[in-house]
Amino acid sequence: MQTRKIVHVDMDAFYASVEQRDNPSYRGKPLVVGGSPNQRGVVAAASYEARKFGIHSAMPSVTAIAKCPGLIFVRPRFDVYREISTSIHTIFKRYSDLVEGVALDEAYLDYYSA
Ligand SMILES: [Mg+2]
Repeated sequence: MQTRKIVHVDMDAFYASVEQRDNPSYRGKPLVVGGSPNQRGVVAAASYEARKFGIHSAMPSVTAIAKCPGLIFVRPRFDVYREISTSIHTIFKRYSDLVEGVALDEAYLDYYSA
């Protein structure tokens, strides 16, 4: 008998990881993707290095820079994130015929196992 499972995939630090992938000088450094601190921006994603300073998504950028003065701010590139998300969904579809995207970095998959 097959068992149906619902798999929830939520990629961690997705936007920040894409920026570190595409720009080697960002790797290993505290980085956030989001709005500028002097324009009332908020953090959309924080790298693992930034999280060590207590920075997390939805935090005002001005609070984030106060916690980590050397913090790198990167403007979101949603077109790139969307393209990568589509590629990842192609991988999901190898394992499931029902993939429901919730966000660029989050999806539910129906999965049947023996
Ligand atoms: Mg996520």
